Amino acid sequence: MKERAKKIIKASFIGIIMNVLLSIAKMIVGLIVGAISIVLDAVNNLSDAISQIVTIIGTALSMKAPNKKHPYGYGRVEYITSQVMAAIIISVGVVSLNEAIQKIMNPGKPEYAIYSLVILAAAIVLKLLYATYTRIVGKKLNAKNLLATSTDSLMDSLLTLGTLIAGIIVYFGGYNIEGYVGCIIAALIIKAGIELMIDAIKSIIGNRIDSNMSKNIKEIINSFDGVLGTYDLSLHEYGPLKTIGSAHIEVEDRMPASEIHVLTRKIVETVYSKVGVLLTIGIYATNDSTTYYTKIKNTVKELVQSYDEILELHGFYVRDDKVSFDLVFDFKCKNRSEIIDEIKDILVGLYPGYSFDIVIDNDLSD
Ligand SMILES: [Zn+2]
Repeated sequence: MKERAKKIIKASFIGIIMNVLLSIAKMIVGLIVGAISIVLDAVNNLSDAISQIVTIIGTALSMKAPNKKHPYGYGRVEYITSQVMAAIIISVGVVSLNEAIQKIMNPGKPEYAIYSLVILAAAIVLKLLYATYTRIVGKKLNAKNLLATSTDSLMDSLLTLGTLIAGIIVYFGGYNIEGYVGCIIAALIIKAGIELMIDAIKSIIGNRIDSNMSKNIKEIINSFDGVLGTYDLSLHEYGPLKTIGSAHIEVEDRMPASEIHVLTRKIVETVYSKVGVLLTIGIYATNDSTTYYTKIKNTVKELVQSYDEILELHGFYVRDDKVSFDLVFDFKCKNRSEIIDEIKDILVGLYPGYSFDIVIDNDLSD
């Protein structure tokens, strides 16, 4: 994990240096030729550098060792730094928008020179190269933030292309459309700030696990011999690099603790090494499929299928005269306990002598 974090930091660091250099070069050129669109393009690169600094701070902090007071580490600090950075970026965007509107009202005459156009063209090429680089590294490391940076860099190169076209039109055609290009850039800066803010707020509230991620983890666990099913996968994020959680697996009720011990350890190790998620595994026992209990299970299955609100039945087990199982309900369902009572009544009628213990589960993951 440390290797991975280092590689992400390295890729982000290259981006920061490039963005700061591009920003300085464009700022100087923009001020010399008096072109607001180039100046705002420079501001845009600077706001990108700011978001990348957030990425680095987040990654670095999440590597800080947990301690007694903060046993889950420091990863969530990133959500707070993101809010601060988002506020800065949004204010920069609003100031920029104001400048651009002023420029539409009072368009001066920018003195574009060929070299300013050449610098813009070079900036486009650099951004495209960086977008490709972060896409490759991001895919290899499965790093969402790098893939987002890649998309962002691609957008930036298009934006600079717009600035370049505006420059060419001013230089060769004599029409000044600079203020309008500036408005578009300012709007995109504000949009980037708002997105950063929303993303951090969502993480603080707690997100549903990414569908690919949860399906992948369940697939990994189900591939182990002896695992008859994986349920109730629940994950909690402590920053981008630390995710902990739990899952239930179903095993035959005659499997001894010695085998369960070895199996669950192997599962925990494999999931951690493959997707970097630290799981706790709980156990559901399942009856031998040749017993009478299978008949009860099939009845429950059929009964449950008639309720659209019930998404899944799992953890079915009968011990002596006690039947227990879990039902996963759709979040939209508001009358869960009524449905449970209804199901219990039907089952008790069909199988007198048995008691039914039904657990309500939430639809936590796909
Ligand atoms: Zn369950």
